[in-house]
Amino acid sequence: MEDKAKATRSPVDKGLLQTHDLYKYILETSVYPLESELLKELRAITLNHPRALMATAPDAGQLMAMLLKLVNAKKTIEIGVFTGYSLLLTALTIPDDGKITAIDLDRNSYEIGLPVIEKAGVKHKINFIESKALPVLDKLLEDPNNHGTFDFAFVDADKANYANYHEKLLVLLKPAGIVIYDNTLWGGTVAMPEDSVPADRLATRNVAIEFNKYLAADTRVQISQVPLGDGITICRRL
Ligand code: SAH
Ligand code: CA
Repeated sequence: MEDKAKATRSPVDKGLLQTHDLYKYILETSVYPLESELLKELRAITLNHPRALMATAPDAGQLMAMLLKLVNAKKTIEIGVFTGYSLLLTALTIPDDGKITAIDLDRNSYEIGLPVIEKAGVKHKINFIESKALPVLDKLLEDPNNHGTFDFAFVDADKANYANYHEKLLVLLKPAGIVIYDNTLWGGTVAMPEDSVPADRLATRNVAIEFNKYLAADTRVQISQVPLGDGITICRRL
């Protein structure tokens, strides 16, 4: 009887992370005790922001730091800075002569976290550009010397343009370079029937569904979609 139950169990029943308590356990056991005090400080400052939920989750940040180290990232790009959690994390992880091109159309939120970035002594690694991301990528692409030179990219803004960013980033990334896309599960709405998705989430939910299919079919990259934070998809340029 038991064997039969096992045999009919489907892969969707295998996922372990089904309770808040389990997530809390992971954070308290393996994430918070190792999170830098500076990142904690930036997180605390961000909590007062009305859009604090946009900040990268610390467990997703921990995976990002791991990937940055695994590829020895030195030259990176970030699209969507907000108050700078993922930016500070990247700046703390790459070497002292590393460089981050950080793009956000709003400088005000970047300035909220800037005092912590300065205190951390990593501001010299950051080139913050206040702009929409697409024109900045186009500018970088104009110079062939930039092609194939980036080790790592983190995309966390303007979901409607993810496929456009992907095409451009694949030219800018080194072979074996990594690009991470955030929010690819869009609050779980990607798996909900259309009529049960809140109206304000529908457009981005549809964009995410298309983008996830597009990445899964892209033979130029190896991918892994991880249900951390709001869902992140890690792509390695082949
Ligand atoms: N990575 C950040 C969170 C980014 S939230 C963190 O760890 O906290 C998304 C950010 O993208 C917002 O700050 C918003 O101003 C910015 N943004 C939205 N559309 C954009 C665009 N087209 N180009 C660049 N930045 C954009
Ligand atoms: Ca995000």
